[in-house]
Amino acid sequence: MSLSPVLTKRFGTQQPWKLDNYERLDGYAGLRKALAMAPADLVTLVKDSNLRGRGGAGFPTGMKWSFIPKDNPKPKYVVVNADEGEPGTCRDLPLMMNDPHSMIEGIIIACFAVGANRAFVYIRGEAIHAIRRVTAAVNEARVKGYLGTNILGSGFDCDIVVHGGAGAYICGEETALLDSLEGRRGQPRLKPPFPATNGLYDSPTVVNNVGTLASVPYIVLGGADWFKAMGPAGSPGPCIYSLSGRVANPGQYEAPMGTTLRELIELAGGMSRGKDVKFWTPGGSSTPLFTEAHLDTPLDFDEAVKAGSMNGTSAVMIFDEGDCVVRAVKKWSEFYRHESCGKCTPCREGTYWYVGIYDRLEAGRGTDEDLETLLDLSDNILGRSFCALGDGATSPVSSSIKFFKDEYIAHIENQGCPYAGNRALAG
Ligand code: NAD
Ligand code: SF4
Repeated sequence: MSLSPVLTKRFGTQQPWKLDNYERLDGYAGLRKALAMAPADLVTLVKDSNLRGRGGAGFPTGMKWSFIPKDNPKPKYVVVNADEGEPGTCRDLPLMMNDPHSMIEGIIIACFAVGANRAFVYIRGEAIHAIRRVTAAVNEARVKGYLGTNILGSGFDCDIVVHGGAGAYICGEETALLDSLEGRRGQPRLKPPFPATNGLYDSPTVVNNVGTLASVPYIVLGGADWFKAMGPAGSPGPCIYSLSGRVANPGQYEAPMGTTLRELIELAGGMSRGKDVKFWTPGGSSTPLFTEAHLDTPLDFDEAVKAGSMNGTSAVMIFDEGDCVVRAVKKWSEFYRHESCGKCTPCREGTYWYVGIYDRLEAGRGTDEDLETLLDLSDNILGRSFCALGDGATSPVSSSIKFFKDEYIAHIENQGCPYAGNRALAG
């Protein structure tokens, strides 16, 4: 589990977001090295490193870059998905606040590798502080010649536009993000075609997450083998896990991919109330819940799936024996109902129905039929929705019923939440 910090190595140092300080700690050395390489070799290097997309899906980054067609005469783009909105997820914002230049350096290298001269960073609208911080860093990089024309005398031109979203979770879905960037209402597009061939302005576009791109300069400097030595071979590299809930010290913890919850809880100083883990999300609320039985499951893109969930955004929300799973799922369902873009019926109507049922269960008016309806709704949303938001909304519902059916029944038989007293005591 031990790892010298990579992505967070500048966190806590003197104003790490300032260009001079970034340069003092290897900043832009990766770019200098990359500009001396052939673009195709850079793509091969990232492929060899097995870097997988940190946005949640874990798609191989080098493969995604290799999909950009070379013979397409249209301009190519790199778009950074910094619309971090998955419940519990908080790692791109700290990365952009502490070390914006690592992402910017990764963007320029990605542009050079795929033949793009312009990149866009789409930052979640509520995060005004991050929009300001990244804008300032882009301006500093431009003044110093890392952006603009003939970067470092290489003959390569590249610039970055920072764009603030308007606070819609759906705009984290890459094609909704592209629509929003083009000035339209953010709603998912049909895939395929994927953005790699038909992305921004119908041009070939790489869409990568902040953490994915911030990893790239380190791979260029350290090499593919160095990167692969951290964590499991199929899913390697450093990962920032966001821990929240019933741990003594919630926050961001960098560890190799494949770290277990038991190890993460230790890093976070143990459980805050001394109680045992009851349920937890491995990668945000859109990933099926795990329980205490999964404390030793390696959290990477392959093992988490084998164990019945997903690594997702590595947003680990931890609940203990004093917490009500029905209430937690009700809160997440309210989020999905609010954020559903309304384009397709299963998600728009299904999330609305979910909330109605959870309201009844909590108010003590639930019936046995409600449990069946929740499962039936989940069957009708999963795989029938237009994008991953609908599928994600079913994860906490189905997995909580799978592991904690008795607790649902207790809500029905006791005509209300058996944990309501705990909440009153906890304030
Ligand atoms: P996906 O698996 O459909 O795609 C992943 C990436 O690979 C996309 O960029 C896609 O364009 C590309 N891709 C996949 N197949 C391709 C192909 N054949 N050719 C070219 N490119 C291809 O997943 P998704 O719907 O983009 O994302 C779902 C994930 O998003 C979930 O796993 C979830 O964890 C995550 N998520 C993250 C946040 C957040 O705040 N970071 C929020 C919500 C969801
Ligand atoms: Fe919109 Fe939900 Fe359908 Fe996605 S699944 S397109 S968010 S209605």
